[in-house]
Amino acid sequence: MTIQIELNGVNKHYGAFHALKNINLAIEKGSFVALVGPSGCGKSTLLRSLAGLEKISAGELKIAGDLMTNVPPRKRDVAMVFQSYALYPHMTVEENLTYSLRIRGVAKAEARKAAEEVAQTTGLLPLLKRYPRELSGGQRQRVAMSRAIIRNPKAFLFDEPLSNLDASLRVHMRKEIRLLHDRLKATSVYVTHDQVEAMTMADHVVVMRDGVIEQQGRPLDLYDRPANRFVAGFIGSPAMNFIPGRVGWDERVLELNFASGVERLALPPELGQGLLPGQSVTVGLRPEHLSLMPAGEGAFDITIALVESTGSSTFVATVSEPELTIVTAGGRGLRSGDRLGVRIDAANIHLFDAESGLRIE
Ligand code: ATP
Repeated sequence: MTIQIELNGVNKHYGAFHALKNINLAIEKGSFVALVGPSGCGKSTLLRSLAGLEKISAGELKIAGDLMTNVPPRKRDVAMVFQSYALYPHMTVEENLTYSLRIRGVAKAEARKAAEEVAQTTGLLPLLKRYPRELSGGQRQRVAMSRAIIRNPKAFLFDEPLSNLDASLRVHMRKEIRLLHDRLKATSVYVTHDQVEAMTMADHVVVMRDGVIEQQGRPLDLYDRPANRFVAGFIGSPAMNFIPGRVGWDERVLELNFASGVERLALPPELGQGLLPGQSVTVGLRPEHLSLMPAGEGAFDITIALVESTGSSTFVATVSEPELTIVTAGGRGLRSGDRLGVRIDAANIHLFDAESGLRIE
């Protein structure tokens, strides 16, 4: 395994504001890494630090083994792709593509050949003579990527590149970027606030909050074993349900605190080995791990407040205690106001310490 990008103890201060707090990250060559987190978590700052657009305050940053501390952006050999595309409006697609080569002294004919090769890969060959204003949003995005590709950089850095596109084009471009990454055997770092984008595109997801890496790992590992309540609530759509609870005096039984009363839930043997009798916990239930049945037959009853159907599945929400979202396949006959029972798939519950929010195994 070769590490292409390495951050050790990276910190970034903007005046008194601590935007990156002791970031450690190793990005494997050829991998697609997504940096994800809510607005202001520091993901763009981290990406911009890799590009050299921000100077880090402390720590070490290496690209392809070389220390980048005093290396200016244009010498880092990384390519940044922005949501605004940052295309030159007065240049044709071909000129946009060849510009970076031309300023580095590459001969015109050679630069043109390189542009044609890249345009072939990205499907822009018929559009080389057009100006950016004559292109659709998706095509402009492709030009922005082609311009990055032509430089054959050590890494591609994407800063929310799809946020200007409509929903269906976004989904299409996600696939396109990922396929391009695979074809080029590139190393990509991709910033997004959209966890679905992160989960579907990346090999490795880094979840950030308030300048800290909360957890990193393979997408489904984060989904299956979130390290804390924040990651549990952030990864997954619709989001995980959280219910306050307490460990019973028999520590194999959880007491869930609903407004309607306490519901008892027996824990399967593999869960909650470290629990103490009386301990306060937060119980995490993914919407697909709750199932609906006739009232009185589940662990507890709910009244449906909202039904949303996508055709293949139905999202059911309750608003009063317990406030829950439940996903069910089918479910077309469900109506708001229906009274139903809910069963909890106990093998798939997640437990977090009520105070620290940390996962309990
Ligand atoms: P978003 O999704 O909204 O772009 P982000 O996670 O990319 O958010 P950053 O742009 O990295 O967030 O900013 C992280 C924090 O640093 C924010 O609180 C922001 O206000 C602050 N910040 C960013 N740039 C500066 C700056 N030049 N001076 C002062 N504070 C800054």
